[in-house]
Amino acid sequence: MKYVPHIKDIPSPSLDELERFVRGRSCAVLTGAGCSTESGIPDYRGPETKRRARNPITYQEYVRDEATRARYWARSAIGWPRFRAARPNDAHRALAALEEAGHVNGVITQNVDRLHHAAGSRRVIELHGALAQVRCLECGEIEHRDSLQERILALNPGWDAEATEIAPDGDVDLPEDATQGFCVPQCRRCHHGQLKPNVVFFGENVPKPTVARAFSLLDDADALLVVGSSLAVYSGYRFVKKAAACDKPIAIANLGQTRGHPHADVVIEGLASDILTRLTAQLS
Ligand code: NAD
Repeated sequence: MKYVPHIKDIPSPSLDELERFVRGRSCAVLTGAGCSTESGIPDYRGPETKRRARNPITYQEYVRDEATRARYWARSAIGWPRFRAARPNDAHRALAALEEAGHVNGVITQNVDRLHHAAGSRRVIELHGALAQVRCLECGEIEHRDSLQERILALNPGWDAEATEIAPDGDVDLPEDATQGFCVPQCRRCHHGQLKPNVVFFGENVPKPTVARAFSLLDDADALLVVGSSLAVYSGYRFVKKAAACDKPIAIANLGQTRGHPHADVVIEGLASDILTRLTAQLS
């Protein structure tokens, strides 16, 4: 399931500079949606973004409006089986290998797809949570998304609507009227709380303990390597600012411009899978 056919002809960049950057150092790695596009999960701000532009749901809309929540879960019910079917690509596997070899001390990811875990990375901080979990906003109960999927389908038998392609949030685009009459399950423990995917929505803050753990991972590292992120979202960009403020060297491997470019010592433009696989080979 490759999502990025339009960029398959991107030339392989020289990695000598990046190899010199990583060799002899322990790097904290910050990953974004670009690390998972080659697993079939779209990003927000990649080369194709305009064609797929959509407004992500905000936390405020979600908690305020019942119809918004119904629409979210109706779309998610179709999107989840596709999202959970995504498998790690060579970029995820290379990062796990670089950790194993001591070149990487851990991954701070903005992604909610758990693909770093699936690839074997051991120290992973999920800044924005994981779509595989659902949380009750009332009692805090955590339920696995697969279990909720069963309850959704029991409440909405035969729920299937025409879907196009999977969206960055792990759901699908559906016409407004296609989601009418959809029943949203309630918390399985308290039986009245609203359920929310255990991810940080736009308009919500990353929990403070998560930020603290991520800063500590960066503190323990000699340098910061950013992979596949536009850094447009502040919660990721702050690690570039912190690294720059502490005089830690910064490298960026990404397709296209990022907000971190002015701070970077090394910038490599290309596909994350290609760059990281060859980097791993060159280092070993
Ligand atoms: P972004 O969409 O803003 O930026 C992605 C960047 O990666 C772009 O610059 C794009 O050109 C680049 N890119 C795309 N494919 C690439 C590839 N194969 N190799 C190298 N670079 C590639 O993503 P972001 O900075 O992570 O911010 C988006 C937010 O949305 C995140 O905070 C995240 O929580 C969420 N999100 C998560 C997922 C996921 O879990 N997989 C997917 C989409 C969005």
